[in-house]
Amino acid sequence: MKIFNCNTPKNRQPVYDKKICSKHILVFGEEIQKLFSSITVGIIGLGGLGMVVLEQIMRLFPKAIIGIDYDTVSKSNLNRLTGTTYVDANSNILKSDHAHQHVKKFNPLQVTKFINGNFLEEESQKRFGSCDLIFNCPDSVVTRLAGCQFGLAHGKIVIDLGCGAVVEDGILQHVVGQIVKITPDSGFCLNCSELYDLNEARAELMDDDELNRQQEMGYIRGADVPEPQIYSLNMMTASWAVWLMMQIVADKEPAFDGIAIDALNFNTYTWTERKTNPNDCPICGRNGIIFAGNKAELLIKECKADAKKKVIAEITKIIFDNKKDTSKSQRPLEQNQLTSKSKSEVPSEKGTNRKTKKSK
Ligand SMILES: [Zn+2]
Repeated sequence: MKIFNCNTPKNRQPVYDKKICSKHILVFGEEIQKLFSSITVGIIGLGGLGMVVLEQIMRLFPKAIIGIDYDTVSKSNLNRLTGTTYVDANSNILKSDHAHQHVKKFNPLQVTKFINGNFLEEESQKRFGSCDLIFNCPDSVVTRLAGCQFGLAHGKIVIDLGCGAVVEDGILQHVVGQIVKITPDSGFCLNCSELYDLNEARAELMDDDELNRQQEMGYIRGADVPEPQIYSLNMMTASWAVWLMMQIVADKEPAFDGIAIDALNFNTYTWTERKTNPNDCPICGRNGIIFAGNKAELLIKECKADAKKKVIAEITKIIFDNKKDTSKSQRPLEQNQLTSKSKSEVPSEKGTNRKTKKSK
């Protein structure tokens, strides 16, 4: 499946430093390097994963890089945020500014657009319209769903990546990473695949009153739990994701849909998602939004209360349908071991009143 619709070299010759790229060219050949330098890469979330992706992508000399994050650098980021220093943490520099400086220091000629903003804002999503491929690595499940929806509506390749550790009673239970490739012909998406905890997405969409009510009734757990984070795991996960991208660009797209890293046991697996036919998913199904472009109703923060209720109802229905469905994909790792904040139990946090962090 060819999705790259970049106009290079007709409109613009790919720009790359031949000396710097010489070792890549030895691996892939110059034609593939020209392709690397012809694509525009988007990165949603410039945190622990997004910055490792960026670090590797900028050294491939893509045509352009577009990134977004609304957060600032803090001391607790320094154990894993590529290129950051004490000075950055003390001055609470914006993650988008840090990413910009990091790339420009390496290559002042690189075309970039780093946005201090939230991908759930319509204006922010529009800026990703020129991307050929999007790395989806924000820290909110709703933003992940939005990144996936945007990619499907606009015919992009989405590489979704997440990682995390689970500690229970002070004992490290799981250390896992996950990379999922989603394209318009995948036959599944993040909404219908149960790859993330959709209850978390519901919680993120609710207003504070409704959220408190649902938490009191025990339907939803809070998600603002400090997550255990390890730089080496971020690097492993991001590196597999970038390698996957390089294979796709080199027209060696693998047949599987996902890669799982079980770091505690030093294992990596691939798997293929279950595809249903007919597919009734409101996003990737036959009446979904694939290739609907600007006509697609996408998940955005500003959507009116009624539209938001509709989205919550849709997600609730998907959760219900998934529970009924016993023919799930044979994934190598137990689902929800990772990426779901509410599953990352930190001993010191137990029993505290958790509150969901809303996206800014
Ligand atoms: Zn779907």
